[in-house]
Amino acid sequence: MVKLDLFTNYSLQEMNTLSVPAIAGNFVEVTSPSELKEAISLATELNLETLILGGGSNIILPDFFVGLVIKIGITGFEVIDEDKQHVWVKVGAGENWQDFIEYCLNFHYWGLENLSLIPGTVGAAPIQNIGAYGVEQKDYMSELNAIETKSLVDVTFQNASCEFGYRESVFKSRLKDQYVITHVTFKLSKKPCVVIEYPSLKHAIASRDISEITPQVVSQIICEIRQSKLPNPSVIPNAGSFFKNPIIDFDLYQQIEDKYPDVVSFPAKRGQIKLAAGWLLEQAGWKGINDCGVGFHSDQALVLTNEGRKTSAQILRFAEDVRADILQRFGVLLEIEPANYS
Ligand code: FAD
Ligand code: NAP
Repeated sequence: MVKLDLFTNYSLQEMNTLSVPAIAGNFVEVTSPSELKEAISLATELNLETLILGGGSNIILPDFFVGLVIKIGITGFEVIDEDKQHVWVKVGAGENWQDFIEYCLNFHYWGLENLSLIPGTVGAAPIQNIGAYGVEQKDYMSELNAIETKSLVDVTFQNASCEFGYRESVFKSRLKDQYVITHVTFKLSKKPCVVIEYPSLKHAIASRDISEITPQVVSQIICEIRQSKLPNPSVIPNAGSFFKNPIIDFDLYQQIEDKYPDVVSFPAKRGQIKLAAGWLLEQAGWKGINDCGVGFHSDQALVLTNEGRKTSAQILRFAEDVRADILQRFGVLLEIEPANYS
């Protein structure tokens, strides 16, 4: 049996990028699958609910969580297979995502460069199928290992069974909070390949004098764009995009376009249309607004900021006003992107 370091009434304010002043009734960090199983068993024994925490960059925590918060600290990178063109790297769920990106750049394992500088852990990446600049983690994820919380059985999910979609996976829908991811394996290319069609990336490349567009250059440029545009959570608390870009039916899109001909939109699957939620917020006047410490960033309307370090209830009240306003103006109901445990 492994000995766990259990803490009570533990502050999570430094462990969530929104800087919500949340307290965990009980808290433990686990560094191996066996510690994780031990922690889940303990929670079951004590009849406590569990909450899994990675880097806390996509989560809305309650003021007080009465159960057991389990922070995933499982680390390690291991090349488990390779052929002439590819390498399979198995990564501990608690590894920092950007550390993994840097590991890949160092060893010349290519594919994930467009996902540079996304905060959080590797284990959380499949949960919302992180994406940026035209790439999603699903494009390179091969399989993941998880533990089913009810039975403590080890399960391997292949990419196809994760039901990945736009900022979606089976772990956010049908199987929400039923599995804890311990490792994720990515199939990466040994041959450099770059994806540079995304408009703001293309524009940034065109505006620089670059002789060769290598994956390292793409990663570097994306880091520069992100650092210039997105608030650093350790200075201005935020959880990245607060709302998902809504995907709507063509009929509703036409009604919006009739009224707002410059609406920012992109074709989505099955004839639907994806709207830029940031455009909706900016159009409605929310960009740069600060309501007693909670607001939207002045350079990036989709990023809700919590400079006042307010509670989740205060943040969600503000978000509800915003959602109601967007619904009333455009007929579009925005969906909150971070996992909401409040
Ligand atoms: P947490 O916030 O700790 O957890 C999120 C959810 O995953 C929770 O439900 C939690 O219970 C669950 N979870 C965490 N780890 C595990 C695990 N091992 N097993 C099972 N469940 C788990 N996202 C993008 O997609 N693209 C971006 O470009 C992007 N940019 C961002 C920029 C900023 C400034 C910020 C603050 C956020 C951004 N995000 C972006 C959102 C966020 O970084 C990602 O969603 C990230 O993957 C969250 O990782 P985390 O470890 O912080 O997860
Ligand atoms: P941007 O380039 O200003 O574009 C605004 C929005 O339009 C984005 O949300 C993007 O959707 C969409 N878009 C732009 N070009 C597109 C195209 N050719 N096809 C389909 N959709 C397109 O975006 P940004 O705010 O600076 O962010 C840059 C990238 O980082 C985006 O991919 C964004 O998702 C990601 N990001 C995510 C978060 C988060 O917390 N989830 C936070 C910051 C940045 P997509 O979101 O689908 O790309």
